[in-house]
Amino acid sequence: MKIGFIGLGHMGLPMASNLLRSGNAVHVFDTSSQAIGLAVERGAIATGSIADLAAAVDVVITMLPNPAIVRSVVAGPDGVLAHAKDGTLIIECSTSDPQTARDLESMAQSSGKAMIDAPVSGGVPGAEAGTLTFMVGGTEEAFVAARPILMAMGKNIVNCGPAGSGQAAKICNNLLLGVSTIAVSESMCLGVSLGLAPDVLAAIINTSSGRCWVSEVYNPYPGVVKSAPASNDFSGGFACDLMIKDLSLALDAASGTRQPLPMTALSKQLFQLLSLKGEGSKDITAIVQMFKM
Ligand code: NAD
Repeated sequence: MKIGFIGLGHMGLPMASNLLRSGNAVHVFDTSSQAIGLAVERGAIATGSIADLAAAVDVVITMLPNPAIVRSVVAGPDGVLAHAKDGTLIIECSTSDPQTARDLESMAQSSGKAMIDAPVSGGVPGAEAGTLTFMVGGTEEAFVAARPILMAMGKNIVNCGPAGSGQAAKICNNLLLGVSTIAVSESMCLGVSLGLAPDVLAAIINTSSGRCWVSEVYNPYPGVVKSAPASNDFSGGFACDLMIKDLSLALDAASGTRQPLPMTALSKQLFQLLSLKGEGSKDITAIVQMFKM
């Protein structure tokens, strides 16, 4: 299978590496030549443009920062749809928004291609280990065609419904991640201010009703989880600026259904304060610094 991979960042590079490991020819493109170089070192084939990549492959995977970039890469004049062969399957894995996913799928169908939205959960560790969860929106036929490819990069492949449903599921999950990161930060800092040792408090929370993924696997308090970004100067992981984007996507989508999201709105404001302090590229758990004495 000839696969094209566009967007070789924190997530895209390890995902493309897993496709290579399972024996696929992977053609790659990124606006960063350094990112292309890293993929080529792992066995990928460099391409000079999105047009060249799209013309050479049967499947195109995108893993890009935001919906505006996704729209231009997929549907722009020099984009995937303009140059891909008929029957090409496009698997859009970026966190985007339901409307962008629906618009692009409909454009893909009218030009003889198939497209699914397939955003992921599991972060960089999940991308490296090939254990991502894929939340898929699209036709049953496209889901079935994409499944074996997604299985090379993930463990749980969930059909969420028609186009846009994967993105809807993803933004619901990520608003919970954003809110719970702040809630765990508050709780840990209160405990420490009251004289509790952070590892003792985390152990109590993780066997009590406050337990959640952030408290257990991704604890924001430095030193509690050795493998978490908080114990590595908040580097790697999931950037604060990407979380601001995801919370904005949730708030925008909610305005269409008049759904109130007060915790999401407040969380977005707090992450924006962190970004304003110059920490936007740090992991989301850097928010703990705003509560830590
Ligand atoms: P990243 O910024 O590390 O990577 C994005 C890559 O896209 C970069 O290499 C960049 O050079 C490239 N790029 C930007 N514009 C481009 C263009 N026009 N053409 C080709 N390449 C282009 O971001 P990431 O952390 O890998 O996240 C990618 C997507 O995955 C985002 O939508 C993010 O919300 C989502 N996501 C991230 C995580 C995480 O933990 N990092 C987890 C789940 C989902």
